[in-house]
Amino acid sequence: MIVTLLGTGTSSGVPLIGCSCDVCRSLDYRDKRLRVSIHLAVNGHHFVVDTGPDFRQQMLREGISQLDAVIFTHQHKDHTAGLDDVRAFNFLQQRDMPVYGRAEVLEQIHREFEYVFAEHRYPGIPRLQLHEISNTPFEVKGVTFIPIDVLHHKLPVFGFRVNNFAYVTDVNHIAESEQHKLKGLDVLVLGALQRDQHISHYSLEQALGMVERLQPKMTYFTHVSHKMGKHGDVEKELPPTVRLGYDGLKLKL
Ligand SMILES: [Zn+2]
Ligand SMILES: [Zn+2]
Ligand SMILES: [Zn+2]
Repeated sequence: MIVTLLGTGTSSGVPLIGCSCDVCRSLDYRDKRLRVSIHLAVNGHHFVVDTGPDFRQQMLREGISQLDAVIFTHQHKDHTAGLDDVRAFNFLQQRDMPVYGRAEVLEQIHREFEYVFAEHRYPGIPRLQLHEISNTPFEVKGVTFIPIDVLHHKLPVFGFRVNNFAYVTDVNHIAESEQHKLKGLDVLVLGALQRDQHISHYSLEQALGMVERLQPKMTYFTHVSHKMGKHGDVEKELPPTVRLGYDGLKLKL
């Protein structure tokens, strides 16, 4: 399995429009963060988790020409706004795109991309095949995804585990009853927004606390804000088994 971090930035991306802070002006490529998403290549099948506003750019950058399904964590715009661009894959693969999400996510897709579901469809628009998921494991192309039900302020969000890898992005609370699904991991990609506490995301300290509990072999933080600091500076403070993710990072498992 190969996991590619397509984007590792918070909802505004880094740099932030109009900001002239040190991080936003940094020349380090690791301080350029598109909106969060990952690509998973497993047994010759290709998946993305979320299609944010930078989806098209991420597909082009990584040279991805095959996509078997889209799996959504939640319905926030920084995770869904790029969905229209899956039509490129409809065209390439000559089939509908399977899309997996919980009921609330699918309802929002229905509302915000209503033209996709119109009775009289304009030619060339995306073709989606919606699949509702709940907090039970599901299979796509023979690959098992185990949802992890977490909270993002009051919004339920799914993280996903595939084999010994897990991705939990927008989160500020993981119930004890869900934590067992995150034990024995080789790699955890976990949301950590900034140093200060935040209403709907783990701070750096809180995320480190969760890593301490879960003990994955390696952890990469994602959904990072410019307020976290420069990539190179933050990494110096982290334990050796915890790194900041960056766009384009590939993890082989
Ligand atoms: Zn987000
Ligand atoms: Zn900034
Ligand atoms: Zn969110």
